[in-house]
Amino acid sequence: MPTSLVTGGAGFLGSHLCDRLLSDGHRVICVDNLDTGTLENIEHIRSGDFVFLEHDMTRHLEIDEPLDEVFHLASPASPIDYLRLPLHTLKVGSYGTHNALGLAKKHRARFLLASTSEVYGDPQVHPQREDYWGHVNPIGPRGVYDEAKRYAEALTMAYHRQQGVDTHIVRIFNTYGPRMRLRDGRALPAFMGQALAGEPITVFGDGSQTRSFCYVDDLVEGIWRLLHSDEVLPVNIGNPREMTILQFAEAVRRIVGSASPIEFRPLPVDDPKVRQPDISKARRLLGWEPKVELEEGLRRTLDHFKRRMSEGR
Ligand code: NAD
Ligand code: UDP
Repeated sequence: MPTSLVTGGAGFLGSHLCDRLLSDGHRVICVDNLDTGTLENIEHIRSGDFVFLEHDMTRHLEIDEPLDEVFHLASPASPIDYLRLPLHTLKVGSYGTHNALGLAKKHRARFLLASTSEVYGDPQVHPQREDYWGHVNPIGPRGVYDEAKRYAEALTMAYHRQQGVDTHIVRIFNTYGPRMRLRDGRALPAFMGQALAGEPITVFGDGSQTRSFCYVDDLVEGIWRLLHSDEVLPVNIGNPREMTILQFAEAVRRIVGSASPIEFRPLPVDDPKVRQPDISKARRLLGWEPKVELEEGLRRTLDHFKRRMSEGR
């Protein structure tokens, strides 16, 4: 039975990844400091092959059993989280990634870094291919996240080149689904929570900035395939269906069946104007492409939020 360690495993994406690994018959060690994750995301897991360790990845971690795979997802991910935790975000991207890579090296385990489309910053090339170096403001408020991830990518490549660690880097584009926190500030939970409560839907700027939203099951499948591939260089995983944020707000409102008005708010500093993954590389190397249509993904997410709200959470 292979053993996989997932840092950030009590978060939104990490908990879905733990589910997938357990269903594939892996033993899973989930490491999380519960900064932005929650035990609720893993409370349904009853398997004896699942271990939870409350630990901050910026600190050294020893694991006294063989490890086959290390998935490093620990990091604040929502703009309101990383703006609230700027130093911690830089530390988990640097020291945290160093510790996770050290574990993979010691155990001769495969390693996967959860990087982000934010490494492209406010892109001047559209759609974004992996060979685009990006357009990031290092000293703006978002710089703490973007540069932490860019440094994490550099560190991962150095561990591969100098230490021979079997590394992989996924650049994740906006992903949504059940277990996002209603108040995490990202577009999907904000809009769905507001539409459900009949409150105004807060669209930042004039809503003409674009994003491309991927359902979580598709993302997890892409991550899984990448870790088991031979590709060392970064691979974009995301859904190329691009839309404006205003169109996205309207799609959420339609699925919820809500009459909430749209309310325009100031655009955050350095908010990227466009974002769309070029996924030719994932298609070619991994045979991967997203399968879940936006409307279906939104319906599944809505069911989850309704259940959580009816349980008073
Ligand atoms: P999330 O906030 O739900 O999950 C992050 C998890 O990491 C949380 O459980 C948090 O408690 C944990 N964590 C944070 N700092 C830690 C530390 N020092 N030690 C241990 N655990 C720590 O966010 P998510 O959306 O699930 O994101 C997971 C990863 O994927 C992140 O690395 C994020 O940058 C990346 N990513 C996500 C998206 C997306 O759209 N969801 C897009 C691009 C990249
Ligand atoms: N956004 C918005 N209203 C909100 C939250 C976000 O208009 O209440 C916008 C945000 O400005 C950005 C897009 O939605 O243009 C996606 O934001 P999110 O935080 O989900 O992810 P990002 O792509 O910015 O990391």
